[in-house]
Amino acid sequence: MKKIGIIGAGISGLFIANLFKENHNYQVTIFEKKHSIELDEGYGIQLSTNSIKLLNKIGFNELEKKEKFNPEKIDFYEIENQKKISDLNISEYNSEDCKYTTMKRSILVQFLKNRLDEVVIKYEHSIEKIEKKNNQINLAFKNNQNFICDYLIISDGIFSKGKSLISKNKIQPTYNNCIAIRGKISRANLINLNEMNISLFVGPDFHYVIYPIDIISGELNFIGVLKHQLTTNELQNYRLFEEKAFIEGIKSRLQNKISFSILSNLNNIKCFPVFVSKNFHKSVENIYLVGDAFFAFPPSFAQGASQSIEGASELFESIIHSKTDYYSSRVSRVKMINNRSKLNQFAFHASNPIVVFFRNIGLKILTKNKKFLENYLGKIYKS
Ligand SMILES: Cc1cc2nc3c(=O)[nH]c(=O)nc-3n(C[C@H](O)[C@H](O)[C@H](O)COP(=O)(O)OP(=O)(O)OC[C@H]3O[C@@H](n4cnc5c(N)ncnc54)[C@H](O)[C@@H]3O)c2cc1C
Repeated sequence: MKKIGIIGAGISGLFIANLFKENHNYQVTIFEKKHSIELDEGYGIQLSTNSIKLLNKIGFNELEKKEKFNPEKIDFYEIENQKKISDLNISEYNSEDCKYTTMKRSILVQFLKNRLDEVVIKYEHSIEKIEKKNNQINLAFKNNQNFICDYLIISDGIFSKGKSLISKNKIQPTYNNCIAIRGKISRANLINLNEMNISLFVGPDFHYVIYPIDIISGELNFIGVLKHQLTTNELQNYRLFEEKAFIEGIKSRLQNKISFSILSNLNNIKCFPVFVSKNFHKSVENIYLVGDAFFAFPPSFAQGASQSIEGASELFESIIHSKTDYYSSRVSRVKMINNRSKLNQFAFHASNPIVVFFRNIGLKILTKNKKFLENYLGKIYKS
């Protein structure tokens, strides 16, 4: 039996552990630096059909219907006049048991965690050293524990320590000049929105998205992405983003961008800087990167979690079938999605009136153009 060590119990690490669970040729152990799994209670996640199809393989379709939503459309609005520009029918890519889904992130993570034996996840194991000896990999953790494995899967997120160790600090994420603002909003505070759809507001240097996550409480997820310069000192002071003064400063910048009824009723607001990847690290055989550790996208295509799941599935297939194309096929897929994410962000944040004019016309036409959508979205959602 081959031993697999997984660094990080996020969506990608938990999902790949679930896939290996059914294969008795492998034994997986996940090492997580925190003392429990971070559930980020209350916040939402969007999952497109490419990842739902893979999640269904491990029983996601058996989750209770009340735990998930299947929005039919993305409604596009212009921030400046709050008018609807167009809508896009995302249910076009759905099939009977595989639908575009929005839900609480915590429900997805609980689902992935609950399917694993408790002993699989070792908490308070922060990776400190990775050493390759012949075909085996020695892992050393901050708590002085060690582990020897045949395969190492690094899935410890955007600020991957595992990647820093194997790349000798050569590959670091960069600040995307944007702050993400997360919060929750109750259905009662939304005016003129179809709360069963995804509402996407676009405007100068800012876009925000509201989508349903909780059928019982009627809560929706709010996620905004605001262009915002930060100094090196500010970026290094992570506590800054939790400070009341900082959050109030961001809120005051949003006053003329979000309607009063939404801004004044946003709950559990959290701000954090958005970091993205700029390049790839090609690891040596039997050490692999997956999820945000492999590559983190700008959040304007909502593909981060879906790609973590897709990448994990590709890696699983690659390991069990002793294939060698995981890195090259992932890189080409990631490049395609990253280009679309950057293009989306550019279009969503346009401020030049001429660009805005053409963006709006483009949105009206392209959201109804089957050929374009098949290429732009279909290639991603139907993989
Ligand atoms: C603003 C924003 C909104 C987003 N919205 C969406 C969305 O709607 N849909 C979507 O698909 N994606 C979205 N994403 C992206 C998505 O959340 C991520 O891509 C995804 O969670 C990455 O999963 P992961 O498992 O690779 O990493 P993570 O979820 O970051 O998990 C990494 C794990 O590794 C652990 N770890 C870290 N360091 C160590 C260490 N040294 N030793 C051991 N363990 C360690 C961490 O504690 C954590 O548990 C969004 C991202 C942002 C920034």
